[in-house]
Amino acid sequence: MIVSDIHSNLEALEAVLSQAEGSYDEVICCGDVVGYCACPAEVIDWARESVAAIVRGNHDIACCGGGGLHDFNPPARAAAIWTYEQLSEQDRDWLRRMPKGPMRFDHYELAHGSPEDENQYLVSTADVEWLDRAEMRRLCFVGHTHRQGGWSWQRGGIQRIPAPSPKEQERVMDLDPDYQYLINPGSVGQPRDGDPRAGYALWNSSANLLALRRVKYDVRLAQMRIADAGLPHHLAERLAAGH
Ligand code: ZN
Repeated sequence: MIVSDIHSNLEALEAVLSQAEGSYDEVICCGDVVGYCACPAEVIDWARESVAAIVRGNHDIACCGGGGLHDFNPPARAAAIWTYEQLSEQDRDWLRRMPKGPMRFDHYELAHGSPEDENQYLVSTADVEWLDRAEMRRLCFVGHTHRQGGWSWQRGGIQRIPAPSPKEQERVMDLDPDYQYLINPGSVGQPRDGDPRAGYALWNSSANLLALRRVKYDVRLAQMRIADAGLPHHLAERLAAGH
């Protein structure tokens, strides 16, 4: 299972784990475990126990005092400072020790932003035109944009891979051995592709199958926790809109 951008949203994470139960044997994570929502310690506890491979995100860095706050908008900055104050020194240390991407494994690669730069946002196809020249594994998982989907390419050109439509729970595809893939599993905790459901992906490496999935979660409860924590109202509102 591939997850990304959980952002301290425990309700969304629990919905993903319960839907995916029994259909994966390892969890890999493209970063941004914390920031924005109200349950950073709980989500770190889960990640510490459960994740087989992970790379750091810009919020993981900022929330343990590692810098980058100047690039954040005011609500994101307020949440990062709040998160820092909530966390134990042990939790902050765990964030500090998260490895910088990209990380290369035998059959795949893991990055927060892109295989070239951990802070790069890959939104449009114009952002990935360099892909056919990039040094990377055949399959790379990225996060950061909170938009599920990705691109595939071979000599013929680059093709967009769409997220499931709002009516679909998942979109399954065969991974062609002649193609390369850049896949964003979507954001668990703060989707920004217009679909408020939590996003994640399942990868069956022996069958060469990839499923992009969405699952409904208790947005109201996540919003109430954000309000109770005194975090900016905007961070609760955007969860319902999926923006
Ligand atoms: Zn993020």
